[in-house]
Amino acid sequence: MTSRTRTFGPGGRVPDLAVEWHAGWPSAKHDPAPEIQSHAAEEHTVIMRQNMSVNFEAPFMFLLFGHRSALLIDTGATAEPEYFPLREVVDAHIADWLERHPREDYRLIVAHTHGHGDHKAADGQFADRPRTRIVGPGLEAVTAFYGFDDWPATPRELDLGGRVVDVIPGPGHHASATVFYDRWTRLLLTGDTLYPGHLYVQDWDAYKATVDRLVSWCDEHPVSHLLGCHVEMSTEPGEAYPRGWSHQPDEAALPMKVEQLRALQTALEEIGGAPGVHEYDDFHIWYRAD
Ligand SMILES: [Zn+2]
Repeated sequence: MTSRTRTFGPGGRVPDLAVEWHAGWPSAKHDPAPEIQSHAAEEHTVIMRQNMSVNFEAPFMFLLFGHRSALLIDTGATAEPEYFPLREVVDAHIADWLERHPREDYRLIVAHTHGHGDHKAADGQFADRPRTRIVGPGLEAVTAFYGFDDWPATPRELDLGGRVVDVIPGPGHHASATVFYDRWTRLLLTGDTLYPGHLYVQDWDAYKATVDRLVSWCDEHPVSHLLGCHVEMSTEPGEAYPRGWSHQPDEAALPMKVEQLRALQTALEEIGGAPGVHEYDDFHIWYRAD
């Protein structure tokens, strides 16, 4: 009883990213907005953001639907469902989608851009979910699940059933970081490797190689937008909100262009591994050599 929707070809849909993301409230306690904001970028793609009033990290999360399986990328910064009901919200999105595209034995893969706490906190909410696989977040689990055999050199494909996502190794901010390229929307989901905000480099050489790898990827594939997992810059070029801020009324837009990735590549060449905070228009690069 599968409904025959057409196969997800490459570049099938231009995602609608025109959404005003809620960016906290002067008093977090009185924030009237829900814990999670959802935006359908197109029929088979939902972008979610954790409310800054629940946790200042306010990470973005992504839900991609294929014919056989959905892919949830990241589970946010808060574990407890009473403060952050991610499972409930994701289950509702999946139920909605299945109502429009009925099929049986639909699965869910819960994966991560990387293993930091603000991207995996609610993994436990999915632990008892039927037909659900939680990946990682450590390097061994990531390598085994996607089948990387020469990490970090070669990307692997993840097939959600007619919708293929390329998983690109992205160490540097975190050892097991991955970047996701969705052929359907042509979105490149860059995690904490690139977003409008504070870019924390843990391993300089690995990070630089990752940025080079992503630039090459963008040279060879059509990319509609780059979407990271946070926004910390303001609309004023070069101005970032301080870490821990939980109200960002003039925050920069989430979507970035390939030119901004190239600007990051150029910045890394300029910095050459010098420790410090290096401020650029669209991001601040933080590097402490240990
Ligand atoms: Zn993060």
